[in-house]
Amino acid sequence: MDHNRIRKKLKILADAAKYDASCASSGSNRAKKPDKNAIGDTQSMGICHSYTPDGRCISLLKILMTNYCIYDCKFCINRVSSNVQRARFTPQEVVDLTLSFYKRNYIEGLFLSSGIIRSSDYTMECLLNIVKALRTQHHFNGYIHLKVIPEASQTLIHQAGLYADRLSANIELPSKQDIKQLAPEKSITTLKSQMLGIRNDIIESKHDYKTKKKYKLPMFAPGGQSTQMIVGATQSHDRSILKTSSSMYKNYNMRRVYYSAFSPIPDAHSLLSLKKPPLIREHRLYQADWLLRFYGFDVDEIVPEDVPDLDLNLDPKTAWALNRRDLFPIDINTADKELLLRIPGIGLRSVQKILHIRKYHQLQHHDLKKLGLAYNRAKHFIKAKDHLKSSLLDHEQLKQHLSSESKQMELW
Ligand code: SF4
Repeated sequence: MDHNRIRKKLKILADAAKYDASCASSGSNRAKKPDKNAIGDTQSMGICHSYTPDGRCISLLKILMTNYCIYDCKFCINRVSSNVQRARFTPQEVVDLTLSFYKRNYIEGLFLSSGIIRSSDYTMECLLNIVKALRTQHHFNGYIHLKVIPEASQTLIHQAGLYADRLSANIELPSKQDIKQLAPEKSITTLKSQMLGIRNDIIESKHDYKTKKKYKLPMFAPGGQSTQMIVGATQSHDRSILKTSSSMYKNYNMRRVYYSAFSPIPDAHSLLSLKKPPLIREHRLYQADWLLRFYGFDVDEIVPEDVPDLDLNLDPKTAWALNRRDLFPIDINTADKELLLRIPGIGLRSVQKILHIRKYHQLQHHDLKKLGLAYNRAKHFIKAKDHLKSSLLDHEQLKQHLSSESKQMELW
């Protein structure tokens, strides 16, 4: 192996991959009993995710096979019209790099994506050859997250899913209009049918595994599928982003939607924003996404039509509660789980603890302080056995008070 040449390529292709935020693994279990020649393993609790300050996940070898691309997506540094240094790994080089990094304990797995060379199917086939060689020739049992190439055929995606832990097809932009303007070669219809195909293959594979006892056969993408949306590249509101995410979760069983703040690129298209959006916007979107998935919120509650963007000064649950003060204070000793989950400062685990403790005795304010919840925020919205109604709940200044508390917390 020519180490200098490989190092140069690695520098270019690892840097080109850093724009993809969707690289966290998610606790997939590969084989129950890997064969005796296998190396590496994924863990049921998820392999460790470690992010550098610029958002790269450092526990996976995160690279593009190539940053050459025949497409011209306006937001992408690797688009055909972009003036960047290009490089390309051969499939064998990616295999060798992954194995040598893994054996040195640098990484726990591989995150592999690529620009499109020659055609979508040709590129997807190259990626497929890499993961197939890793699994079948080298018995690599570490984590693999593989990007699905836009417009690649379902047959190739199906084969790739038998070797990868997770697949992702990136939607990139929240609205049809944005995609049409900024990624005209991509078809939203094809992308959605890729996602649907992945969803169906996952369901079928799980069903076969359970009912037909096909333990020896590889499962299809056991870590599920994910997608990514770029935030702030266009004028699209948070409402539009969250509506798209919600439909991704409902219609395609998406495990995660990742939000990646747009980084202005050299020689950018005039349709693109010149400024990087504040990082806090990405953070608020992740918080809102959490509310959609685990707290029973609906997009219309978090970002109604007349206020289509999230409040950057407040977490979305607190912002919602301040607009629905008529529902508060909520009695911590009698409210059902769904209602408890709506209280600002109280998370899923705290709700479980509250439900458990109150079987035995009525909770008082001093009990809540011991539960590890954000009491200073929650206290304004709750009623306990020793309830004293918050003097601030009916006052406009509560918003100001909680905004400054939120800023303090984010400093830490
Ligand atoms: S297809 Fe992918 S790599 Fe190519 S320009 Fe579009 S986003 Fe960039």
